[in-house]
Amino acid sequence: MSKVIIIGGGIIGLFSAYYLHKSGWEVEIIDQGDLSDNCSYGNAGMITPSHFVPLAAPGMVEQGIRWMFNSKSPFYVKPAFNTELFGWGLKFLKSATKKHVDKSAGALTDISMLSKTLFMEFEKDTDIDFGLVDKGILMLFKTQRMVEEEQHLAEQATMLGLDAQYLSPDECRKLQPGVEMDILGAVHYHCDAHLYPNKLMVGLIKYLDNAEGVRIYRNTEITKITPNDGKIISVSSANKEFTGDAFVIAGGAWSPGIARLADLKVPLMPGKGYSFMVKQDTSKLMTIPSILCEARVAVTPMNGSIRYGGTMEVGKINDKVNMNRVKGIVESVPKYLPNFKPEVPQQKDIWFGFRPVSPDGLPYIGLSGKYKNLAIATGHAMIGLSLAPATGKLINEVLNGTQPTMNMEVFSPGRFQ
Ligand SMILES: Cc1cc2nc3c(=O)[nH]c(=O)nc-3n(C[C@H](O)[C@H](O)[C@H](O)COP(=O)(O)OP(=O)(O)OC[C@H]3O[C@@H](n4cnc5c(N)ncnc54)[C@H](O)[C@@H]3O)c2cc1C
Repeated sequence: MSKVIIIGGGIIGLFSAYYLHKSGWEVEIIDQGDLSDNCSYGNAGMITPSHFVPLAAPGMVEQGIRWMFNSKSPFYVKPAFNTELFGWGLKFLKSATKKHVDKSAGALTDISMLSKTLFMEFEKDTDIDFGLVDKGILMLFKTQRMVEEEQHLAEQATMLGLDAQYLSPDECRKLQPGVEMDILGAVHYHCDAHLYPNKLMVGLIKYLDNAEGVRIYRNTEITKITPNDGKIISVSSANKEFTGDAFVIAGGAWSPGIARLADLKVPLMPGKGYSFMVKQDTSKLMTIPSILCEARVAVTPMNGSIRYGGTMEVGKINDKVNMNRVKGIVESVPKYLPNFKPEVPQQKDIWFGFRPVSPDGLPYIGLSGKYKNLAIATGHAMIGLSLAPATGKLINEVLNGTQPTMNMEVFSPGRFQ
């Protein structure tokens, strides 16, 4: 039996492990933490084929610059004399074009739809209950500019084969009678779904912990990668060397540092986001998640509560909570949902995580190029939960040398080498 070593036990590493184990590999997952928290826990839980436009898109640069002068804004790049950030910014600028969006939209739609199908299959095959609900998500908007933008996106989505329906405010209110809405309109992406990420992570870790041929090493940071003759032969922590036939880098926002150990460049920046939970009031029951478009805030019902999440602070990894940005999330909610008035949470109740944000808004999925037995699976930014099953399946296919289920060219890890 061949052995694969996976660096990183976030949702991407775990789904890679799931599919590799299913196809007969012996699997070792190594994580620097204890797997009780990473970016894959506190996210908004949305499965989003609707997100077919990559983050690097026309208008994002101008919008980003405007937001940088507002301490409560949903997007912020911390200016720093840092060559990594500078290189990332230049690549982002180059990628934010219509041509790039047109080239990426089909592939993002294909991988998201594949992933959604795999989530359904995974739930059936494993019997893990992770609160999967297939009711779509609502894009809510308040300004005329956003009406036009979202209408145009919904038309594009329909052309890509996605099920998107434009709704008037009244049509939208009828879907959830207890939820007041102060909006100009909405788009209901029936193709989307949502789940409770914490339950998914715990369930998947338990499944893998109990699976024969899978071993998880916790609190084990990989600090060395040893290549020989065009292949990786081992990876090491301070105390242990792990040998294998194949290796996967799935280290989320830490992936550039891990890749550097093998002399590889995987440009991405950590994009910090926050979330917090508030118990659902059943007299105003919300069953469909919403994205508050202008505010870029996600509101998701899960596990009897509502999770509010948002902001993207691009900068170094740190554990500082920026209360102004959390207040930005809190204050935006009643503007769209007047009978939802979350209070500013205490710092201890605020979760934060680091999205692995590639400069062109596309994930890196595939073989590293330089080493024939090293795969990269990272850079999923805002859609890592959504794309995790498909990423795992594709990584399994490339390591087995079988024909991938879909064309993965735009996701090539070597595209910035
Ligand atoms: C506020 C917020 C809301 C979000 N909402 C959504 C959503 O609704 N839908 C969606 O699809 N996505 C969403 N996301 C994005 C999603 O959460 C991420 O894309 C995804 O979790 C990334 O998973 P990952 O496995 O790549 O990284 P992680 O979950 O961060 O896992 C990486 C792991 O690698 C380990 N590691 C790092 N370095 C080493 C090393 N040297 N040795 C060993 N281990 C190492 C880390 O300890 C970590 O456990 C959201 C993110 C945020 C912040």
